[in-house]
Amino acid sequence: MAEPCIFCQIVRGEIPTQLMANTGDCVAFRDLNPQAPTHILIIPKKHMASLDDAMDGQVLGKMLVLAASLARQEKISRTGYRTVINTGADGGQSVAHLHLHLLGGRAMAWPPG
Ligand code: AMP
Repeated sequence: MAEPCIFCQIVRGEIPTQLMANTGDCVAFRDLNPQAPTHILIIPKKHMASLDDAMDGQVLGKMLVLAASLARQEKISRTGYRTVINTGADGGQSVAHLHLHLLGGRAMAWPPG
């Protein structure tokens, strides 16, 4: 039997998380293994494995708008922040449910590793 999707389980409230937002299309929660003082994941409620499977531009737009709103809420808008979508093996994606990372609260390096 296929492994259950952990982010779908979070959407259904089956596993605990630090929920930051729950909108019509998206859920946002704090990353379990934060890489910055603010590290929030924004996901679509509807399962899609990665950006490569995302055909709904409206939902993608809503994820970005929610990220900007959460950045303001976290008071990192003025200092800046980074939004990242890792896609596939070379992109470093480890959870096969589309997610947008919102990272901030420290200066970021470029290029990413
Ligand atoms: P990625 O490597 O881009 O696929 O990112 C997956 C992210 O999900 C990682 O930063 C993990 O720390 C995070 N993660 C995995 N499981 C959980 C969970 N149950 N709650 C919150 N974050 C999680």
